[in-house]
Amino acid sequence: MAKITLKDLSHSYLEKQNNNADWALREVNIDWKDGGAYALLGPSGCGKTTLLNIVSGLLKPTKGKVLFDDKDITTLNPVERDIAQIFQFPVIYDTMTVYDNLAFPLKNRGLSDSEIASKVKEIAEMLELTSTLNNRASGLTADGKQKISLGRGLVRSDVNVIMFDEPLTVIDPHLKWILRSKLKELHQKINRTMIYVTHDQTEALTFADQVVVMHEGQIVQTGTPVELFEKPKHTFVGHFIGSPGMNILPCEIKNGEVIFSGQKISSHNTANKSNFNKTQLGIRPEFINFSNNGIPVKIKRVSNTGRHKIIDTESSGGNIKILSNSSTEIPSGSAHITFNQKYTYVYGDNWIIEQ
Ligand code: ADP
Ligand code: MG
Repeated sequence: MAKITLKDLSHSYLEKQNNNADWALREVNIDWKDGGAYALLGPSGCGKTTLLNIVSGLLKPTKGKVLFDDKDITTLNPVERDIAQIFQFPVIYDTMTVYDNLAFPLKNRGLSDSEIASKVKEIAEMLELTSTLNNRASGLTADGKQKISLGRGLVRSDVNVIMFDEPLTVIDPHLKWILRSKLKELHQKINRTMIYVTHDQTEALTFADQVVVMHEGQIVQTGTPVELFEKPKHTFVGHFIGSPGMNILPCEIKNGEVIFSGQKISSHNTANKSNFNKTQLGIRPEFINFSNNGIPVKIKRVSNTGRHKIIDTESSGGNIKILSNSSTEIPSGSAHITFNQKYTYVYGDNWIIEQ
C-alpha cells in the first residue's frame, strides 16, 4: 500500500512543443492518500490513460515526478512498482481455465496451493465466477472475460495500488451497475488505494470519495461528489457534471455588481472589477425557481422524466434550463425566474472568482 504523489507532471508525445495543445498532460499535481478510493473523470482524449500509464510506469513523463510514500520512483519499471492495472479491454489467457487465470498472479509470487485456492475462491464469489471456475476462459462472453481481468487485478494483496482504466466499457449495462457497487464494497473491505478512470460521471461519483476532474490535460478540480456539484471551480466541471449541467451565462460586472439580462443578480461571489476577457454566471438548473418577479423568460419546452421536469427557457441573456419536481406547475408562455444566491457563482475566463 502506498500514498501516491504526482509532482508538476507534464507529458507530451511530441519531440517539440509549441503550444498547450501539444501537451497531453499539463502541470498535474495530485496527492492520493493511502487506502483512498479515487476517480479520474473527464471526456475522451483529456489525458486519463496517459496519467495512469505514468503512475504504472508504462510511460516516462516528459517532466515531473511520481512518488510512492514520498520515494521518487519515476524511473522504476512497472514490475518494480507493484501495482495492478486493469485495462479497458480484457487481458486474459484464453487457453487457461478461469481458475488458472485468477491463480496466475499468485503462482507467480510463490503462494502455496491452499493460499491460492482460498483467494481465488473469495474473488470468484465476489465476481460471480464460481460456477465457471473450471471452464476455459475462451468460451466466455466479453463480460465474463472482463470479470476475469478484474479478478486478476483484485486477487493480489501485495499491491501498492489498483488502477482501473474504464473497466466497464465492455460490460452489459445491468451488470455494470452490479460490478460498480461490488468494487465500492471491495474497496471498503480491503482498504487498498484504488484509482478508477472513467468518462462516466455516475461511475466516478458512486465509486470515489474524491474525484479528480480533467479537461484538456489539466486538472480543473478535485473534490467530493458534493463539492463538485455544489461549487464547481471551473465552468467545465459545471456543465460536465450534472444532468442537465450547469447553465453558464454571459454576465457583466459593474462597480462590483453582477449584471445579467439587464438586472442585478445576487450571487455567492463577485468580482471587484472585471479584468477578465469574459465573465460568466453559473447556476445549476436545480437552483432556479419560478417567481412573480425576477428575470423574464419564455418557456420553450417542458420534458417530464418522471422524477423531474426539465424546462428549456429563453431569456434576453441566453437559454436557461430549469429542473423542477415533476409535481411543480409550470407556467406556460412567459414567466419570471430567480436564482438561489447560495449556488450562483461568477466565473472569470471559466475559473471561479475566489475572494
Ligand atoms: P483519455 O484516456 O482521457 O481518452 P489519452 O491519455 O489516451 O486520453 O490521450 C490524451 C491525448 O494524448 C490525446 O490527444 C491523444 O490523442 C494523445 N495520445 C494518447 N496516446 C498517444 C500516443 N501513443 N501517441 C501520440 N499521442 C497520443
Ligand atoms: Mg483512455
